[in-house]
Amino acid sequence: MFDLPNLAGRAANLWRYQESLGINDSKNYVSFGEGPTPLTPYQLNGREVLLKLDYLRPTGSFKDRGTAVMISKLKEWGVAEVIDDSSGNAGASVAAYAAAAGIRAEIFIPAYTSLGKATQIRAYGATLIKIHGGREDTAEAAWAAAARSFYASHNWSPYFLAGMKTMAYEIAEQLNWKAPDWVVVPVGGGSLIVGLWQGFLDLRACGYVTKMPRLVAVQSENCAPIYEAWKAGRQSVHCVQKRQTAAEGIAISDPIRAKQILQAIQNSAGISHIVSDDEVWYSLKLLASKGVYIEPTSAAAIGACSTLLSSGVIGHRDIVVIPLTGFGLKATDKIVEHCSDTWREPEK
Ligand SMILES: *Cc1c(COP(=O)(O)O)cnc(C)c1O
Repeated sequence: MFDLPNLAGRAANLWRYQESLGINDSKNYVSFGEGPTPLTPYQLNGREVLLKLDYLRPTGSFKDRGTAVMISKLKEWGVAEVIDDSSGNAGASVAAYAAAAGIRAEIFIPAYTSLGKATQIRAYGATLIKIHGGREDTAEAAWAAAARSFYASHNWSPYFLAGMKTMAYEIAEQLNWKAPDWVVVPVGGGSLIVGLWQGFLDLRACGYVTKMPRLVAVQSENCAPIYEAWKAGRQSVHCVQKRQTAAEGIAISDPIRAKQILQAIQNSAGISHIVSDDEVWYSLKLLASKGVYIEPTSAAAIGACSTLLSSGVIGHRDIVVIPLTGFGLKATDKIVEHCSDTWREPEK
């Protein structure tokens, strides 16, 4: 773990927390010098929350935190080619960092993935393979192909998780070494919520923060294995029937890290909450009308937080952080399809 006095002299990027990231030699860092993302106050339902603008990372999603560390480790190991499967953002992130590292990448995505993400993966020079089927079929296809390559799965890699912990470190540092009362997190594969939890545990173990935040695991009502398990008090998930959802980044019906996700919720005295696609679109438009342009998946957390504030589950004096995980430009095609008829045209 890093020492607080050492941080003062270090550059403002995620490698300032290098002792927690597991890369042996700094010459293997694959990095664009990406700095901390803003933690910015925002009025939601007349109450102040803090938005963590993590869509402002090099590839437009928070996945870059995990990928920077994972790809750095693979470079350290001398891996020449990788495979990952993704709902889009992790694939784009792996494609970008692999390109920077000189590693060949092959990315499997479901055919329904937003055009913005698919285009981005291609533009970075990765081989893109679209699978007609669901997110799980995509993972299976990648798993089979990994027999001839290196399976750099963001859902399995402990290095990816280590990168996610930097979100907790960064939030605590921005709050002057304090944890917020709540963090409201969209949950798919669970690397973000589990990484946050582990990061705050590190901070508490070192005495850098004294209390832990409560975590809210947000899912879509169309695909909610974690919510269902949490509600039933189970320690593991039952694979659920998935319906199509606007929140494509969290549509994972059988998350590999389910047990850790459920423990993070339970141990933080947290909760799980589901939102409808209507709430997702409403929240997306609400934030865009204030100049914050996020993709539908990220809007799920706004919808959930809004309900939890109104119902009093989250107290009005509580410090609440909402990580905004993906940029609106990622999902241009989906947003045009859904929203363009509600946009005002100029008077003729
Ligand atoms: C991947 C993703 C999530 C979910 O993160 P997990 O770590 O898989 O739980 C949330 N929002 C966006 C935009 C994503 O791409």
